[in-house]
Amino acid sequence: MNAQKLAKLTALGLSQPIAVVGMGVSGQAVLQALLSAGYEAKGVDEKRSTQSILSLNLDVAGALAEFKTLIVSPGVDRRRQALISVAKEVAILNDVELFARLVDKPVVAVTGSNGKSTVVTLLYEALGALGYKAVLCGNIGRSVIEAFFSDEAVDYYVLELSSYQLELCPSLSPLVGVIVNITPDHLDRYEDFSAYAEAKGNLARQAQHLVLNAEDAYCVALSKTLDKPIEWFSLQKTSQGGGVHEGMLLVEGEEILPVVDLALKGKHNYANVLCVLLSLRALGLSFAEALGAIGTFAGLAHRMQQVATIGGVLWIDDSKATNVGATVAALAGVSAPLILILGGAGKGQDFSELAQAVVEAKVKQVLLIGVDNCALQEALKEKAVAFVVCQTLDVAVARARDYAQAGDWVLLSPACASLDQFKNYQQRGLYFAQLAQNGAVDV
Ligand code: ADP
Repeated sequence: MNAQKLAKLTALGLSQPIAVVGMGVSGQAVLQALLSAGYEAKGVDEKRSTQSILSLNLDVAGALAEFKTLIVSPGVDRRRQALISVAKEVAILNDVELFARLVDKPVVAVTGSNGKSTVVTLLYEALGALGYKAVLCGNIGRSVIEAFFSDEAVDYYVLELSSYQLELCPSLSPLVGVIVNITPDHLDRYEDFSAYAEAKGNLARQAQHLVLNAEDAYCVALSKTLDKPIEWFSLQKTSQGGGVHEGMLLVEGEEILPVVDLALKGKHNYANVLCVLLSLRALGLSFAEALGAIGTFAGLAHRMQQVATIGGVLWIDDSKATNVGATVAALAGVSAPLILILGGAGKGQDFSELAQAVVEAKVKQVLLIGVDNCALQEALKEKAVAFVVCQTLDVAVARARDYAQAGDWVLLSPACASLDQFKNYQQRGLYFAQLAQNGAVDV
């Protein structure tokens, strides 16, 4: 690890001993950096123990009492007893806070309920096309600490941040902060929607320059409490900020790019592209030279990704739609008749908006997967939407084959997490693609 950067970490003078709580990708990077910088630090994990990792039950009050600083991973709920019981006496922060105290290059940070990964990846591509070296990290899979301590050249850090990551990083003050949207999600870890939205709102309060969604009620309400430059985007004709009119993306009322030139499909992706254009503008960069790269960006796997065409039927994997907002966006952007596969771990969501979107879209058949989808079933019944309970993806795909005719799309856009039946959304999407591509499946 770079000695100068380690010296900077040492100079932060964190109170010791330090516990890194949660030993996933980000926790491991933090522990390694702390130990290399000479701190007395231990990892804490509920599932494994090694020489430098303690196995502790976080439901036990006082379990972390011996530590002076806790660096908490995003996967660990702050409402666990071990954290609550010491919250008043010790410093509690996360890896993004450490990064924020160390970083000396411009940062663009992106949050939102849906679209984060698409926006940061597109921004990374656009900066590359303009000749800048961007480093992509955060919730996208590469830890911010690992990225900071690597020796690669950096012009900009592009951070994807979840609401969990935004809870514990008060020093983060990105040059540009982007909120793509705020719609309900993760209500199993927040008391209510406003608590979740508050966490996302931290980015708006802390960033120097903002890019916000003009069609998002929470972004609009939030902006009234802020006094800083804001670039707004919407899917309407606008003379300021970013907009869309007659198939053209607009910036400050000027026609920038026809949407037919975008490889990305769906109206929600127009919003994502506008986020990128406005971020570049907020950075003081001209985006003309980046438009080619933006146009050819085909999107990420498991986001409205075509995985098979069989007998004129398109099979689309949108497994990353793990909440209602993402599936509603998918339905709004598709005009083909749909066989729609929904369901999974519901995370305490209200499905009424989804049921209404199903009514308004051209959905021929709804197929339900998942161990327990009572709430989803109730919401669909309330809107008189018929559905078939398939439980497993194997059965749903077999039924989809029965129903689909040439010209239809079979869309896996579950509006739910995958964890009741799969390791993660990637596994769910890959399995769907495999079933789709393998032709007939006997059930
Ligand atoms: P995130 O990183 O926030 O989960 P992704 O880019 O991975 O966002 O997309 C997650 C899901 O949300 C996918 O189903 C995708 O089609 C959908 N999506 C992408 N951008 C948007 C947007 N701007 N608004 C609503 N849904 C979106």
